[in-house]
Amino acid sequence: MENLIEQIKNIVGENGLIIGDDVAKRAGDWLGRSKCGASAVVRPASTQELSEVMKLCHAAGQKVVAAGGLTGLVHGADAVQNEVMISFERMNKVLEVDKTGRTMLVEAGAPLQKAHEAAKEHDLMFAVDLGARGSCTIGGNISTNAGGNQVIRYGMMREQVLGLEAVLADGTIISSLNTLLKNNSGYDLKQLFIGSEGTLGLVTRAVLRLHSLPKSENVAFVAFDDFAALVDFFGAATRAFGGALTSFEVMWDSYYELIVGDGSKHNPPLPKGHKYYAIVECQGYEPQKDADNFNAVLEKMVEDEMFADAMICQSLAQAQAVWAIREDIVGLFMGTQPAAVFDVSLPISTMDNYLNELFVVVKQKWGEKSRVIVFGHLGDCNLHIVVSPGVWEPQTQGEIETMVYPPLKAIGGAVSAEHGIGLEKRNYLHHSRSESEIALMRTLKTALDPKNILNAGKVLV
Ligand SMILES: Cc1cc2nc3c(=O)[nH]c(=O)nc-3n(C[C@H](O)[C@H](O)[C@H](O)COP(=O)(O)OP(=O)(O)OC[C@H]3O[C@@H](n4cnc5c(N)ncnc54)[C@H](O)[C@@H]3O)c2cc1C
Repeated sequence: MENLIEQIKNIVGENGLIIGDDVAKRAGDWLGRSKCGASAVVRPASTQELSEVMKLCHAAGQKVVAAGGLTGLVHGADAVQNEVMISFERMNKVLEVDKTGRTMLVEAGAPLQKAHEAAKEHDLMFAVDLGARGSCTIGGNISTNAGGNQVIRYGMMREQVLGLEAVLADGTIISSLNTLLKNNSGYDLKQLFIGSEGTLGLVTRAVLRLHSLPKSENVAFVAFDDFAALVDFFGAATRAFGGALTSFEVMWDSYYELIVGDGSKHNPPLPKGHKYYAIVECQGYEPQKDADNFNAVLEKMVEDEMFADAMICQSLAQAQAVWAIREDIVGLFMGTQPAAVFDVSLPISTMDNYLNELFVVVKQKWGEKSRVIVFGHLGDCNLHIVVSPGVWEPQTQGEIETMVYPPLKAIGGAVSAEHGIGLEKRNYLHHSRSESEIALMRTLKTALDPKNILNAGKVLV
């Protein structure tokens, strides 16, 4: 490997390579709970450099792991000894914004927030947004097909990528930087790299679709005492607000009470004691009209007794404070360890039963001290579930997984909604994908990466 590293250094230069003790000084995850386990970290400055590096790695059969901001939650960017990490941190620029075409050309290592800011300078918006925006990268967002807080209106990352460039396992550069909304000229190759978690190619640049920057944002925080009322409200909100409805995020009481409970940095916008709390956000282009409509719809819902309590945010600061409760993932992690964390999809109509059964089996197994904390993008059929049993033994993770995943299969759920498969869920992929689907995934993997050097062992066992 030393010889290979020396050759890589000749391509990327001293600044582009981290070796020895310096590797373990780097974090292995977003909370800094683990250390980088790779033998070396390569930091190419361009697509061409990465291509040359991959030609060497391919010839040597050297396994590589792609890393963005390390905010992924399924161990997709974990690296072990004898693997080389490819970090995109030096490829972090927004290269171009086309105001007329409403597109942006971005390097893979650009943080999501940088893309937001660059679009805003041109009165435009990049529509994928999520809590890790300051750290996660566009390359990571593409590779995981990230979702986030605005999916009900704009869709996931897949809907925002018009074109991309990737380096294949053997160093071939596939430059498919389409800027057109319509382009049906043959296979849509970018789709191979969106959501494939760095197993089929390394994304280096992307053309992103932009939208007009909204001029109004109206946010309400609404409490419910039963699930049927919550679902009825969601249906009514989609009808009343139509395309303006941007987010419908729900926190179960267990989440709300943990995050705004004793010693919390957050002020509870509504009293504790209700069963569900939802953030409803609408965006539009006519501030006065949008605010009047938002208030009128909610007032009518008060008359119709559609919820238990509600607060309409009167300022941006108030809206940000409400969102900060939903996005306090650090507070959630710190308050629930040790715990198993899940990101699943299931039809809204099945959520209540599914969760009630889960609450029962967890309590039966671990008793009153155990907790199941639930929140997520209900409008997208996507829940995040944290099971904190109160004790932890080597088999606990597996025991919780068998409570969470198999029941999903029967109701047409998915083991991953937006975080991907990584290492964590590969044993459960068959719950959500058929044998023939998995076989085709393997065919694609073998065709594009015959030596299995790209993120080996991730996604597919
Ligand atoms: C606080 C918090 C909130 C979050 N909220 C959401 C949310 O609402 N919605 C959501 O979808 N996710 C969410 N996530 C998960 C995470 O932020 C996303 O999955 C994000 O897209 C990962 O980006 P990253 O740059 O950190 O990628 P990493 O974690 O570094 O990598 C993720 C995967 O992509 C691969 N990869 C990274 N860069 C490349 C590249 N250039 N080419 C090929 N493969 C690459 C890696 O090998 C790995 O498999 C959240 C995470 C945190 C910590």
